[in-house]
Amino acid sequence: MAAAVEKSAETPGLPAFLAEIGDVPTIADPQVVRRRSRDFFWYSPILNAQLHGKAAEIIVMPRHETDVIAIARAAARHGVPLTPRGGGTGNYGQAVPLKGGALVDFTAMNHILWNRPGVLRVQAGAKMGAIDEALQPFGWELRLHPSTKRTATIGGFVAGGSSGIGSVAYGGLRDPGNIGAARIVTIEREPRVIELRADAAQKVNRAFGTTGLITELEMPLSPAWRWIDVIVAFDDFMAAVETGRAIAMADGIVKKLATPIAWPIPAAFADIKAHCPDRKSILIAMIAEPFIEAFRALLGQGVVTHEAPTDESAGKVPLYEYCWNHTTLHMLKGDRSITYLQCLFPHDRLIATVETMVATFGDEVPHHLEFSRYAGHLTASALPIVRYKSPERLNEIIATYEANGVFVANPHVYTLEDGSRYRRADADQFGFKTEVDPYGLLNPGKMKSYIGKPWKPA
Ligand SMILES: Cc1cc2nc3c(=O)[nH]c(=O)nc-3n(C[C@H](O)[C@H](O)[C@H](O)COP(=O)(O)OP(=O)(O)OC[C@H]3O[C@@H](n4cnc5c(N)ncnc54)[C@H](O)[C@@H]3O)c2cc1C
Repeated sequence: MAAAVEKSAETPGLPAFLAEIGDVPTIADPQVVRRRSRDFFWYSPILNAQLHGKAAEIIVMPRHETDVIAIARAAARHGVPLTPRGGGTGNYGQAVPLKGGALVDFTAMNHILWNRPGVLRVQAGAKMGAIDEALQPFGWELRLHPSTKRTATIGGFVAGGSSGIGSVAYGGLRDPGNIGAARIVTIEREPRVIELRADAAQKVNRAFGTTGLITELEMPLSPAWRWIDVIVAFDDFMAAVETGRAIAMADGIVKKLATPIAWPIPAAFADIKAHCPDRKSILIAMIAEPFIEAFRALLGQGVVTHEAPTDESAGKVPLYEYCWNHTTLHMLKGDRSITYLQCLFPHDRLIATVETMVATFGDEVPHHLEFSRYAGHLTASALPIVRYKSPERLNEIIATYEANGVFVANPHVYTLEDGSRYRRADADQFGFKTEVDPYGLLNPGKMKSYIGKPWKPA
């Protein structure tokens, strides 16, 4: 029997909002609205309980910026909460409406506006896989993408993501130069369109769509190499970590991914089982073809079990879909009781800290690392698997990481503040919100310290 779903509180201004947006396409079918009001928050047993049944009342689907302005104007005039949504692949309920209202689905705004060598201007709803496919004939590709590249949008990545494939060379979205510009629409009775360039674009980065509706982005590109997916097997996880680090630090080897994964995690990789020998830890890498020979020379005791060009065609699974938070997904397929954390290891004590944490937690927290640059230093992000017991034990694990100098961005909370290192919203983003969303109608509840002016009819 289907679980009962909580009915959203009805927003009194919704009929007037809908009348005012005119011919902007909408979806009212409650089943579709409920389905699209979800993301991947169910990875967390805690969020799964807290966010179950939260849904919008209607979906609006802007076709172009003029529609976005109409939606923003009508929302501000009639007090309707708006929750932006791209591909809905976020992990912390970022795109789940807490207060009903309208879900703004950006996926119809998916055009590339222009591209030049090294830079692209694109509408926010374009999927990253489609962007790279379109750029291929020009010899360019996105510098960074999450492992959900094939289903996630560029707007959702900038507003809800952080780093991913490519971060081993270029760092994360926070690093200067990794977002060229963002164009946003404000939620005011007379909406403004604002171009945020260079550092100013950080006002919308990982703000969960609380600081403006992003309509366009300018993103830096990198050369599109012929990438080779490689799996290397090791007797010991720390040997995979040491080798991964040597590859990540080899500046002459062009790479996009260096991911050591501890046994028994690879046992969950059903489709590539043949390349994951029993009881071996593995290193997954993406290496530009001309550098494969130099890469092989760094492998030490590692044994190559798979080497083939990255294949993103329909029906194929590129190796990056076993890394970052896809690793958790593969584990969840066989064991719904596991969950995960999001860690950043200290760059100056990286190997020693990994060794300590692996020894401390043993099989309760199987590790996999993502070598990444962070503010100019090579370090490792990690999304360790946690064999979940209780919220109390999860908090103990977080506290143990933190006591060892590992930063944890808690993925079991849905507000910006609770997931932040400093337990408060970024000051720039908070200040900017007062300018662009005075009534707090954008994704309400996600920036919990922002109250906003009480909305009143004009
Ligand atoms: C299996 C798996 C693997 C993942 N791997 C990674 C990874 O490697 N790196 C990483 O960073 N993340 C990762 N994620 C999280 C997520 O997939 C990415 O951050 C992704 O880029 C989100 O894009 P989306 O289009 O799905 O965004 P959505 O989930 O739709 O939205 C994300 C946030 O952005 C806001 N938003 C969306 N569009 C707009 C807009 N136009 N204007 C304003 N706000 C907007 C939403 O309100 C929401 O708060 C992973 C998730 C899963 C489930």
